[in-house]
Amino acid sequence: MSTKYVLIGNSAAALAAVDGIRKFDKQGEITIVNRETGPAYSRVALPYYVAGEMTLDDLLIRQKPDYQKIGVSLVENENVKAINASAKQVELESGKKVSYDKLLIATGSETIVPPIQGLSSIPHHYLWTLEDAIGMKKAAERAKTAVVIGGGFIGMLAAEALRKLKIKLTIVEMAPILLPQLLDEGAGNLFLKAVRDEGVTVKTGALVSAVAKKGDAIEVTLKSGETFTVDMAVVATGVRPHAAFLQSSGITLNKGVLVNEYLQTNQADVYAAGDVAETKDFLSADRSIYAIWPTAIDQGRAAGVNMTGKRQEYPGSLGMNVVELFNVTLAQLGRFREGPGDSVKMLSSKGSEESYRKVVVDKNGTLVGAVYVGDENGVAEMGVIHSAIKRREKWQGFKDGRQPQFTYGAVMHNVPRY
Ligand SMILES: Cc1cc2nc3c(=O)[nH]c(=O)nc-3n(C[C@H](O)[C@H](O)[C@H](O)COP(=O)(O)OP(=O)(O)OC[C@H]3O[C@@H](n4cnc5c(N)ncnc54)[C@H](O)[C@@H]3O)c2cc1C
Repeated sequence: MSTKYVLIGNSAAALAAVDGIRKFDKQGEITIVNRETGPAYSRVALPYYVAGEMTLDDLLIRQKPDYQKIGVSLVENENVKAINASAKQVELESGKKVSYDKLLIATGSETIVPPIQGLSSIPHHYLWTLEDAIGMKKAAERAKTAVVIGGGFIGMLAAEALRKLKIKLTIVEMAPILLPQLLDEGAGNLFLKAVRDEGVTVKTGALVSAVAKKGDAIEVTLKSGETFTVDMAVVATGVRPHAAFLQSSGITLNKGVLVNEYLQTNQADVYAAGDVAETKDFLSADRSIYAIWPTAIDQGRAAGVNMTGKRQEYPGSLGMNVVELFNVTLAQLGRFREGPGDSVKMLSSKGSEESYRKVVVDKNGTLVGAVYVGDENGVAEMGVIHSAIKRREKWQGFKDGRQPQFTYGAVMHNVPRY
C-alpha cells in the first residue's frame, strides 16, 4: 500500500520536502494543504514586485501543472486549525479532515502585530505574503510619503522597494542601528550613514507609540512625543514561528516546533521544517531558528527523505544573509558577535568609510562568523568564509593575502532556488 504524505504549507520547506520524498518514493500520495491560493511563489522576491521590477508571474516558482507532473495534490485556501496526532488526522477550518501516514509541518513564520495604539484603526501594510505585497504596491501607487515601523530585514526590504518608487521615507527603529539582527555596531553605523545619505529619515532608538487617521493622512506619534504625518504605514516589527495552532496537539513547542536531528517531532510520523522548526544549531549545542530560505530548503529536503523511512541527518542551521540594500552590499554569517574567548580579525580598518569586514574566530582558532558591509567585491570573501565555516576550518587568512575572485551573483547562486 502506498504511503499517504500530507504537507502543511506550500513554500520553500514543503517543496523541498516533496523533492526529498520523490527521490526515494515515486508512488506515495502527496497532498499539500495551503491556506493561500495558487501555486508557490518566491517570498524573497516580493519586494521586487512591490518596486515594480517583477510581475506576479515572475514571482511564481511553480506552475499548476508542475504539481500534477510529480503526483502532488494541492489543496488551496484551506487553513489547518489542528492536528490530531493519535488519529493521524489534520483538521481544517472548513471542517474537513485529512488523514496521513506521514505529516510535515512547514507553516513558516507569521508577522508580529506590535502594541501600537490606534494601529487597527488605520490602513497599514505588512510584507510577508503575496496578498500583503499586492496591498502594499496598491497603496504605494497613491503615496508620496511613508513610515516604515521596524528597521530589521523585512522593514529594510520594504523601505528599499518604496524608495525605488520615489516615496519619501521615515524609518523608525528601536535599536541604535538598522538591521540589529544582522549587523554589529560598526557595520550598523556604516550602513545607517549610507541610508541617511540617500535622503531617508532614520530615527533609531525610537518607538512608535500611537498612530491615528488625520484626514487622508496618518499621524505617527513616537514615545518621545514627536509627531509627523505620512500617506502610508508599513509595519515590520518581526516574525515568529507559525505554531500557535499546534497548542493542543501534543507536539512539543518551544519558540517553534521542536525537532530532532532527523526533523522529527515528539509525535510519531510528524515532522517539521523551515521557519516554524526549532532545530539544532550548526555552531553550538543550542536549538535555533534562522528564518531564511536556504535553511528551509535544507531542512525540508532532509525531512522529506526521512519521511520515506531513509535516514538523513540534518547538520544544523547556520545563520546567513547576503543582500543589497540602498546601494550597499551586506553579508552576515554565523556567530558574528564575538563572545568570551573569541577573537576578532578586522579585514578592513575599523571605522573605514568604504567597508567593514570582520571575521570572528573561536578560542580554538576555528572560524565561526563574519559580517560585511561595503561593495559587491567583499561578498566574494563571504562566499569563501561560508564554505570554511561549514567545513569547520581554522582561520588562516585568504590565500596569498588576495581577495577571492567570486561575485555577488556566484555567491547567491550557491543558495538553492531563490
Ligand atoms: C519580503 C521577504 C524577503 C525575504 N528575503 C529573504 C532573503 O533575501 N534571503 C533569505 O534567505 N530569506 C528571505 N526571506 C525569508 C524566507 O522567505 C523564509 O525563510 C522562507 O520563506 C521560509 O520558508 P518556509 O517554507 O519555512 O515558510 P513560508 O515561506 O513562510 O511558507 C509557509 C507556508 O505555510 C502556509 N501555512 C501557514 N500556516 C498554515 C495553516 N495553518 N494551514 C495551511 N497552510 C498554512 C503558508 O500559506 C505558506 O505556504 C524573506 C522573506 C520575506 C517575507
